[in-house]
Amino acid sequence: MSKDLGPACKLCRRESEKLFLKGERCFSQKCAFERRGFAPGQHGRTGSRSSRGGTGRESDYARQLRAKQRARRVYGILERQFRRYFSVALRARGLTGLVLLQTLESRLDNVIFRLGFASSRSHARLLVTHGHFIVNGRRTDVPSMIMKVGDMVAVRDGSRDGTYFKDLGAVAETRNSPAWLNRDLKTLSGSIGRLPERAEIDGNLDEQLIVEYYSR
Ligand code: SF4
Repeated sequence: MSKDLGPACKLCRRESEKLFLKGERCFSQKCAFERRGFAPGQHGRTGSRSSRGGTGRESDYARQLRAKQRARRVYGILERQFRRYFSVALRARGLTGLVLLQTLESRLDNVIFRLGFASSRSHARLLVTHGHFIVNGRRTDVPSMIMKVGDMVAVRDGSRDGTYFKDLGAVAETRNSPAWLNRDLKTLSGSIGRLPERAEIDGNLDEQLIVEYYSR
């Protein structure tokens, strides 16, 4: 499984903003960024954060790099795979930046998170790798699977009686699901109705800067 290794909260502190990588914890007082909102490491309080958000002026390259790293961290993807997504988006029809974001949104782990079946993308990845989901009727343990319009994902029959999934319908109901997904809380399933529009993709992402980064 490709993912950023190391504590998720450090990534928020590194980016100097909340990336919401740990589900409910991110909205509680336990959030590490709320308690220590400076970059990790010896020079965190005075070093990287001040040079980014403070008085110093960032170069174009630094802003492009930050935008790319931020998107990579939000979706939990390693550099090599992220670059691969970009290459595919570059060759596809449409706006490269938007196609890239739509590809990231179409990953199975993200779809499960967006459906409200997991508290975060990393949680969704874990559930998928443990084999709790089927896609189009077939069991899968590949969180990076790119789903297409019309594809259907559902909790596997054998997992429904498990502690986590028994109450999932009620828990998921408290979480919003975007309009481009069709969600059925009774059957704990969902399908891709259409690709997300730009306005439906949150996370403070700047795809134009990402395109500029890879176009240097
Ligand atoms: Fe980031 Fe969430 Fe950790 Fe807060 S709790 S620092 S938002 S991952």
